[in-house]
Amino acid sequence: MAGATVPTSTEAEHVDNAQRTRPIFYANDSARDMVLHSPLWEFWYSADGALEVVSHACEICCGYEAKHFYRNSRFMEAILLEEHLPLWHGLWRKMDEGENYACAEFQIRLPDSKKRWMKFEASRALDADGCDCGIRAFCHDITAHRSVVQQLTHFTWHDSLTKLPNRCKCIEKIKKAITRAKATNHWNFSVIYIDIDRFKNINDSLGHAAGDAILCKLADRLRSSTYGFETVFRIGGDEFVLMYEDTTDHQSVHRSIETLIKRIKRPILWNGKQIHMSASFGVMHGDSEVDTAERYLQNAHVALNHGRSNGTDGVAVYDSQIFSNALKLISMELDLHNALINDEFFLVYQPVVDTVTRAMTGFEALVRWKNSQGNIISPTKFIPLAEETGLILQLGEWVLHEACSTLAGWRKSNPLFKNLKVNVNLSARQLSDLELTDIVSNILEKTNLPPDCLRLEVTETMLMENPDYADITLRRLRALGVGLCIDDFGTGYSSLMYLQQFPISNLKIDRSFVADMEKNPANYEIVKAVIALAHALGLTVVAEGVEEEEQRIMLLEAGCDFSQGYLFSRPIPPQELPSLLSSMQAPQKCLPQAG
Ligand code: C2E
Ligand code: CA
Ligand code: CA
Repeated sequence: MAGATVPTSTEAEHVDNAQRTRPIFYANDSARDMVLHSPLWEFWYSADGALEVVSHACEICCGYEAKHFYRNSRFMEAILLEEHLPLWHGLWRKMDEGENYACAEFQIRLPDSKKRWMKFEASRALDADGCDCGIRAFCHDITAHRSVVQQLTHFTWHDSLTKLPNRCKCIEKIKKAITRAKATNHWNFSVIYIDIDRFKNINDSLGHAAGDAILCKLADRLRSSTYGFETVFRIGGDEFVLMYEDTTDHQSVHRSIETLIKRIKRPILWNGKQIHMSASFGVMHGDSEVDTAERYLQNAHVALNHGRSNGTDGVAVYDSQIFSNALKLISMELDLHNALINDEFFLVYQPVVDTVTRAMTGFEALVRWKNSQGNIISPTKFIPLAEETGLILQLGEWVLHEACSTLAGWRKSNPLFKNLKVNVNLSARQLSDLELTDIVSNILEKTNLPPDCLRLEVTETMLMENPDYADITLRRLRALGVGLCIDDFGTGYSSLMYLQQFPISNLKIDRSFVADMEKNPANYEIVKAVIALAHALGLTVVAEGVEEEEQRIMLLEAGCDFSQGYLFSRPIPPQELPSLLSSMQAPQKCLPQAG
């Protein structure tokens, strides 16, 4: 009917027409005038479908004068976007079928080619006896509303910071992949969970603005490394998911991940500073036995955590073994929380000796955990877990206090301890803790230990991750009079010249170099070069993991100041240390400033 019929001519002719079929509403001219001057874009159609009146407001709404609608009964169709025509026809079909109300939302094109969203509402006018008098319709401009809705929809599916699709979208995508795999029996997709390593340190030390900027940069790198926008998702703070579909084999997925790892590791420039980031990856390949999106995400995350704790160079693929390990880890995490309360941690001490005289010059405090079942657990197992859960801050403080008070006690009762130093390992979280300097200074004061008797060990990786912040903290610690030592040197990627900027006085060569020295002449050359350069920079050097006399001789020849390892002593309980100290040749003269 209306919109598809009524051949029209001029407005005047139309008015005559209206008078012939005059509906009740138009019983008088003033009512008709009311419609014409309505502030809304309004249409009146007679019961037989002829357009009776269109309000002047139409020009404001669509840019065309009313006369166009009178001249051409299908003018509305002409300005409607072609793809929305079915909506328009559908609306009139409903009214033709006797509905009293119908509405549709569609876009029209204005004379300047701009588009506007319109909501067209048609309702039937019935007289007191229920007879059909025609149709009254309103056309509202809903462009602004539509754009708000569009934005809201975007926010529902996208992350506002990186503009990447979010967790909901990711779940939807995995669900679709599962449905397709079920239909084709080709489970050739992979879900990769990505977590940025130690991202919290960035936020804590450089602030959230830097954190946001770095996340956006990383998101760009992920996006540009994948096939399309919709295959990378940000599903949490520093967590992303990649979806690979139609993969040929698992190897190709792993190759792509390797490329990604390299890209992520490229330094990021922020405020003129170079920031080094890395990420861990957990992979869950399509598997006909796993058919929920949530399980894909969960398993990929479990694999990621497994990879992290095993140091598998950032990537781990999910399998059932990983799952049972994850269960063990969860129970360990629960136990770890109670371990501090139940006093289950204790320290052992490993001597650091003068490479020439073998005299003990200090010792390193190493933490152990005797759990409620009486098993001794290695720090390599629980320290990463304590790091992740944040418990490391309390545990680290306990270790510091215990080590300082033990040495302070010995110093009071045994003169042989007078020149000895205790080395304590710091973790990454402790180094980025704003209160670290206060904690250390309070402990020294409480235990009455001279600051130069304490040496804190940090790894080069910890420094590289966060050089500016580490520098500030280390300078504060140095100002307290505490010694600083680079641990595990050689395992990171930093150069000695780079490390020189930090206020460190001592360097520990990682045991992997020492272990290999005899068989691998190149490693011995590296050890010699590191020692020479460290000396040139005013640092003293400790070799770790010295197990054989031959290694000690080689280190001696290379000029290594101090050594630590099973050759001299394994880590021992504190009560055994005084007798070990007297049995080892005690330092006779004034020692060099380190050891
Ligand atoms: P690290 O700081 O490199 O500590 C030296 C590790 O080498 C110790 O392992 C020690 O037992 C072992 N070791 C010493 N001499 C030899 C040797 O001749 N041969 C071999 N194969 N190994 C030797 P441990 O006690 O299992 O500690 C492992 C790591 O756990 C430490 O490595 C350190 O990174 C961390 N850790 C230990 N205690 C603490 C702590 O209180 N706080 C923090 N943050 N980390 C700690
Ligand atoms: Ca250490
Ligand atoms: Ca070490």
